[in-house]
Amino acid sequence: MTFPDTRPEQAAAGPTADIDVLVVGAGVTGIYQLYRALQAGFSAQLLEAGGGVGGTWFWNRYPGARFDSESYTYAYLFSQELFEAWEWNEHFAEQPEIERYLNHVVDRFDLRRHMRFGAPVTSSTYDESSGMWTVVTDDGTEYRTRYFVAATGVLSVPYFPDVPGREDFRGESHHTGLWPTVPVDFAGKRVAVIGTGSSGVQIIPAIAGEVASLTVYQRSANWCTPLNNSPISPEEQARLRADFDAMCETLNTSASGFLHPIHDRQTFDDPIHQRLAFFESMWRSPGFSKLTSNYTDLTVNHAANALWCEFIAEKVRSIVRNPETAERLIPKDHLYAEKRPPFVTGYYETYNNPNVSLVDLKQTPMVRLTQSGIETSEGVREFDVIVWATGFDFGTGALARMGIRGRQDLALEEHWADGPKTFLGIQTAGFPNFFFPGGPHAAAGNNPRYNGDQVDFVTDTLIYLRDHGYDRIEVEVAAEERWTEMIDTGAVLSPFGESSYYFGSNIPGKPRKYLLNSGGRPKLFKEMRRVRDTEYEAFKLSRASDPAEATA
Ligand SMILES: Cc1cc2nc3c(=O)[nH]c(=O)nc-3n(C[C@H](O)[C@H](O)[C@H](O)COP(=O)(O)OP(=O)(O)OC[C@H]3O[C@@H](n4cnc5c(N)ncnc54)[C@H](O)[C@@H]3O)c2cc1C
Repeated sequence: MTFPDTRPEQAAAGPTADIDVLVVGAGVTGIYQLYRALQAGFSAQLLEAGGGVGGTWFWNRYPGARFDSESYTYAYLFSQELFEAWEWNEHFAEQPEIERYLNHVVDRFDLRRHMRFGAPVTSSTYDESSGMWTVVTDDGTEYRTRYFVAATGVLSVPYFPDVPGREDFRGESHHTGLWPTVPVDFAGKRVAVIGTGSSGVQIIPAIAGEVASLTVYQRSANWCTPLNNSPISPEEQARLRADFDAMCETLNTSASGFLHPIHDRQTFDDPIHQRLAFFESMWRSPGFSKLTSNYTDLTVNHAANALWCEFIAEKVRSIVRNPETAERLIPKDHLYAEKRPPFVTGYYETYNNPNVSLVDLKQTPMVRLTQSGIETSEGVREFDVIVWATGFDFGTGALARMGIRGRQDLALEEHWADGPKTFLGIQTAGFPNFFFPGGPHAAAGNNPRYNGDQVDFVTDTLIYLRDHGYDRIEVEVAAEERWTEMIDTGAVLSPFGESSYYFGSNIPGKPRKYLLNSGGRPKLFKEMRRVRDTEYEAFKLSRASDPAEATA
């Protein structure tokens, strides 16, 4: 993709002496990777396409953008002093606060001088004779690095559907994932929002009050439930500090990386009145606990899931006054959590505003964009601003666009033409010394927790190599095949359905392969432990300086 210019803070072209570790991406994963590499005594440099720190939280600065994870559970846990130095305002922080936090971390640990912004990586080539990677940015600057870590994110390549005339629209047009750094003025404007996934349902209620009119174009309805956000009281702040060790213990061992307790009952264990009372408590519970603390059979028993869906549907009918609009907002084609469930604040209520209307694209498909608006099979509506909340090329999008070439000039996108092949979601065969924590085949849940596990694994591996006189590591094909097969076969048991973007289904032509880790975090832990216990049995370790090893 072409990254737009976004106020480079520091664009000094580099170097460049050879680097031990080159990290790409200044999101929550890349920042931590840079920190750990430097702490471990490696020379390190980070390259970031955007103009500042934050990754997701740099690019997605649209009104209403906020965490669905509890702020303090998403935050870094590697330093208790850091944890205590930052007080989150809300249980689910808004984008500006998150961006401030990540900048605070970067400055606190003096990482900024190792970062270069406005530096999209366009090619990355492995040299078999030296065992080094040459990484090139769009201005032609070359970096030679021993270890190449792409922390480029799974939701970092925004997707625009191929609607005829998209370029013709003369008004303002913004994708939620490429939001401008100067605020967009919505006041008194006629606004269209295309898409009702997690970002769409955040921005819709956030701007509805200031626009002249808001038209929402919905392709598929989602099972939205309340985020139930609130400020963190002084007593809660004190408790968070006091409970730091216990919280880390829970977060570092939980399957989903959340604090939410797992329920001890199945749906049909409870009589109806008890079940409804429980569903009501779920509806009022924070964020993802509707998934993680719900009845334990929710995602494996369709009849159980259907009851929870019916409960949500009744809530929608009770909130949205227009019965036709309410019905359009209730999904009919999938159960709860088959797609990533969005969490909302005042979303359904927004449709009671007289200036808000909903267009169901299944009933009235989009025909094209015109210079002044959007044409559906029903006719044209004119707009001043169009917001594209149309998602991302999930999982492999960024890695496939970095010109990565491994042994024998093998292009990563060719190696992964039928879907990603990885071991631990960290390495792929044929690409020595290349790692991609936070990429495809990672677990699902609270992102920084399992991305952090992967960064720790990568860093510990580099330390192991150094301590044992190696400087090249490449996963064995058999290990990659085993892990990828585990993911592909386990995918049928995943709560997410094939219509979810976790299978790449929102991108035309993309192979329908599961892009998360169907074994989840427990399987990741187990395999990482096994690798450590067997001293890297799944990998081939060697010395690049040894000519006999050069093309191993
Ligand atoms: C709106 C939104 C809300 C979310 N909310 C949550 C949440 O509440 N909880 C949760 O767990 N997860 C959430 N996520 C998922 C989120 O992506 C992760 O939590 C986390 O931010 C991932 O961090 P990362 O560092 O791995 O990737 P990112 O934050 O995506 O950072 C990757 C960086 O790599 C850069 N990059 C990519 N390609 C190149 C290149 N070729 N050259 C140079 N730089 C490049 C990008 O510019 C980007 O800055 C959300 C995602 C979105 C989009």
